[in-house]
Amino acid sequence: MDLVPLEEAKGEIRARCRPLPEVRVQTTQSLGCVLAEEVRARLNVPRFDNSAMDGYALRVSGRLGVGDAFRTTGCILAGAGAEEVVADGEAVRIMTGAPVPPGANTVIPMERVRVDGDRVEVLEPVALGANVRKAGEDVRAGEPLAEVGERVNSRLVALLMAAGVEEVVVRRPPVVGVVSGGDELAASSADLRGPSQIVDSNRPLICALLTEAGFSTRDLGIVPDDESAMVRVLRRGAESCDAIVTTGGVSVGDRDLVPRVLAELGDAWSYRLAIKPGKPFAFGLVDGTPVFALAGNPVSALVAFELIVLPMLGSMMGLADPEPPRVVAVSEERLPGSEDGRTHYVRCAVDVDGDGVLRVRPAGGQGSHQLKPAAWGNVLAVVNRPEGVEAGEKVEVMPLTGAPWPQSGLRKGEGAPRPG
Ligand code: AMP
Ligand code: MG
Repeated sequence: MDLVPLEEAKGEIRARCRPLPEVRVQTTQSLGCVLAEEVRARLNVPRFDNSAMDGYALRVSGRLGVGDAFRTTGCILAGAGAEEVVADGEAVRIMTGAPVPPGANTVIPMERVRVDGDRVEVLEPVALGANVRKAGEDVRAGEPLAEVGERVNSRLVALLMAAGVEEVVVRRPPVVGVVSGGDELAASSADLRGPSQIVDSNRPLICALLTEAGFSTRDLGIVPDDESAMVRVLRRGAESCDAIVTTGGVSVGDRDLVPRVLAELGDAWSYRLAIKPGKPFAFGLVDGTPVFALAGNPVSALVAFELIVLPMLGSMMGLADPEPPRVVAVSEERLPGSEDGRTHYVRCAVDVDGDGVLRVRPAGGQGSHQLKPAAWGNVLAVVNRPEGVEAGEKVEVMPLTGAPWPQSGLRKGEGAPRPG
């Protein structure tokens, strides 16, 4: 079997993953969902002209000068009505968020006046129109606020609610079943039976990755290297999940039975992908439910998940741009390529130097069984030349799911250096 370019395989797989159905949900319940319809504002935000400060609302025709004085007439609180017209020479005490009364066009902050009985005197100049938040200045009713294919985040929830949009049409994140396959696997160190057993780290890995990426998971357990056991688990999983991820048993070993099982259950495709790690990969449809079968080596599973499973789940929920971002970094050390023409996804750590340049170096050994560099690093460097990347050369890196944003040398809370 020839090596298949990653993008070619992904094109084939994407075409076989059906989009999830559209549902109408409360905006407050839509976090993490992808919009299936454009959203337009129903209200102006602000709804009405209101005060940006605690102070005095008044009418001015030019600039308010030091020494100008006004007669105060009452007070308007946030949430109160403002029917009284403010006449020339008058000022109304007003609180932040309260409606600016008819006649007034400017608010002078409390800190800039001297109050003496019902007289206020201006201490510092204030420009015409200052401290008045105009109706519709943030959002105009009818204005588009979000596009089809956008994922709803916390700020968008707030914006839509403020603009009177209480319901949205979305696709929900898929529910994903997770299976580990292998006779050698134990659920925890307490369950290890015999010297050749190992602790299953792939199921915790895939479940945690899915959670970090905003998907729901269903733990389908450990399955031994037994065809009928795997058939049962996949059939059961397909009933309750929108997609399934398996690890192990997908290569050319004697007990690598997952491709056979998938072929028995429905349409199935096996690949040797031109990526390192993560070369063996299979995909199948079990009663229409996509099954992503990843290699068992933990880092192979991680890389195939990041490169294939995440974007496919994103496509199923209608994300306009499901591909992970990539940025350019400068390599601090030599990064190894792959002699057989596969693209090597090197587990690396990226930092920002004092000039804001991303600098990348391997986070440790690059064996596909070596989890530590993946756990301690924050990116995959994309090395697509067999000879590798030399120190000082530029290379594309993709952030690992859930990895912290690269830090510059600054201490937390210190902020960016000021220019000059
Ligand atoms: P396989 O893809 O089944 O041939 O497994 C390749 C390697 O990954 C073997 O060393 C397995 O023991 C290991 N492996 C398979 N599944 C897991 C798992 N769930 N957790 C940790 N290691 C695994
Ligand atoms: Mg195995």
